Amino acid sequence: MPAEVAAKSSGPVPHSSLASQHIRLTSHASGHGALPIHWGAATAAERGPVVGTTTKRSHRNVIGTHSGSYSVYRALAIASGALSPRHKADLTNTSPTDLIGPYPQWSEPGRIVSLDPWGAAVADVFSSELAAGYDIRPTIAVTKAHVILPEVIEALQSGRLKADGKYLTAGGGALVTKAAIEPVWYLPEVARRFGCSETDLRRVLFEETGGMYPELVTRSDLEVFLPPIGGQTIYIFGNPQDLANPAVELTARVHDECNGSDVFGSDICTCRPYLTHAIEECIQGAQRGGVGLVAYSRKEGRALGEVTKFLVYNARKRQVGGDTADQYFARTECVAGVQDMRFQELMPDVLSWLGVRKIHRLVSMSNMKFDAIIKAGIEIGERVNIPDSLIPEDARVEMDAKMAAGYFTPGPVPDAAELKKAKGRELDA
Ligand SMILES: [Zn+2]
Repeated sequence: MPAEVAAKSSGPVPHSSLASQHIRLTSHASGHGALPIHWGAATAAERGPVVGTTTKRSHRNVIGTHSGSYSVYRALAIASGALSPRHKADLTNTSPTDLIGPYPQWSEPGRIVSLDPWGAAVADVFSSELAAGYDIRPTIAVTKAHVILPEVIEALQSGRLKADGKYLTAGGGALVTKAAIEPVWYLPEVARRFGCSETDLRRVLFEETGGMYPELVTRSDLEVFLPPIGGQTIYIFGNPQDLANPAVELTARVHDECNGSDVFGSDICTCRPYLTHAIEECIQGAQRGGVGLVAYSRKEGRALGEVTKFLVYNARKRQVGGDTADQYFARTECVAGVQDMRFQELMPDVLSWLGVRKIHRLVSMSNMKFDAIIKAGIEIGERVNIPDSLIPEDARVEMDAKMAAGYFTPGPVPDAAELKKAKGRELDA
């Protein structure tokens, strides 16, 4: 088999020799060596490892490969000769700083379908398979950090937060445990979450990625897919093991990426103020004996992408009558065909991975997030919304539109006349 012959040589592969290799098709079962996956099994040994490596094709037991969207950069690194296709990760000293689970949710039927609950612990739970030569990569990494945000420093200076040296330093550094999580989809249950057949899901994934993964339609025996999309990052304030204890107060926000606001401070939406307000609430929660959690999903611009998002901004601000709340969702739908593609159906999996049974304080106004969390069997106590003083002027359009659409608010819901008022700034103002 050409793949195996190629795998015997070592060292970086120059361009020219890549071009002359046979293309390694993945659409036929390679026969021997691949370990079975029994998704949702109670122990790691029964479940089996997720093997998405491209170094030894016959060991693969999934569709797709590691690192989500960054798998394409890996291909570029190999194409340019910078990376050997046979590189095997040296995982010395990379093990998680904190143990997460195992929790009963890990094997509850259909509870976790879009990440590998054993993904952080592969070096430990699959040590014998690793010793036998299987290239098993972690899909989750857990580490520690200090996060320093200007809003937290401002809260310290104004007295809303107090440094304690344990959860918050005098310089405004919040001590966190954080984890990066790559998507690992168990296709039969992902299909069930979205109310379609597995066959239809596989066919549409194949077609809408331009035929990127033929095994979606040729290999029904492979049920696990590593999709080329962004993953999630979680930030934990306090003891990670307290997340699974419903007696410990949990303050949580599930946040969807918005680069324009989160990173660059654009004032057209409330994303960063909501995020930093949630972080302040999480720190306070940890300080009073609870635990805080921010789960951050890479779903830029309602998962429509940033190009679509910026097109919508222009459409909103150039329409007759100006940027009004009553046209907020309609303008998105005109450009994208839908109002939102975030589909919160898969979001609660990360909460189940952390063992969460109850969120005492959910910092969010989104009904879609609320409904998805409840549907996942997680209880929600209080809902905490963003204080009015933190809403940028240009973001009033978004807030009014969302409240009118049924998003959570403890205050009055704007009426039809209010929604027709142009509140957004003009494009060149
Ligand atoms: Zn935003």
